[in-house]
Amino acid sequence: MESISSTWILNNESKTHVVNSKISGSFSISIRVVERTLVRSPSGHEFLAKQKLVAERNEAAVEIPYIFLAGEEICRGYIANVFTKAKFEGWTQHLIVPKISRDAISMSRRLGEKGIKGFLLEADVEIVQERWLDNWLNPRDYDSQDRLIPVEQDCTICLEELSLGGQTKIMKLCCSHNFHRDCILTWLKRKHSCPTCRDDVQNPRPQKEVESLMFC
Ligand SMILES: [Zn+2]
Ligand SMILES: [Zn+2]
Repeated sequence: MESISSTWILNNESKTHVVNSKISGSFSISIRVVERTLVRSPSGHEFLAKQKLVAERNEAAVEIPYIFLAGEEICRGYIANVFTKAKFEGWTQHLIVPKISRDAISMSRRLGEKGIKGFLLEADVEIVQERWLDNWLNPRDYDSQDRLIPVEQDCTICLEELSLGGQTKIMKLCCSHNFHRDCILTWLKRKHSCPTCRDDVQNPRPQKEVESLMFC
């Protein structure tokens, strides 16, 4: 089994609260770093073999004085400085700082037009590192044409059919439950359990098959 690729995905969600009493912008940030190991069969079916929470950080509200909301460069510099002081790793800065500063500036402009000055931008960031492996097939799960044989008929998230050999991609979890790829990836942004059996993907129940085939 070999690692064929590794990609970083940034799932960012931010909410804004208007805080009338303040005269500056501010942000708070929570970061979750997740490592996901996936296996892709030659026909494109995917198996989520392992998910691990690598790091979790929360930074309470940090104020951005109004003067630093004047332009993107100055704002980015200020936020990067906050990140450095809070000892966030360098790579999180590259990924997140430009996004926060853009959001903060556009928010201050939007609210400024209404005469509102203070706001709190809450950034909830999930960084997913995907490691792709190949050369792995569980023969019992595939037919002779290398098509995944789902046990279920439907995806329990959207209740639509899991089509065999169609354009819809199917992803299998450690617990052996199958879902549409897009449905399960959206689900995993909020929860890390299987929607069908509630098995924790970050701490799955031991399974003989998986254990013997996986390196974990
Ligand atoms: Zn679905
Ligand atoms: Zn399950």
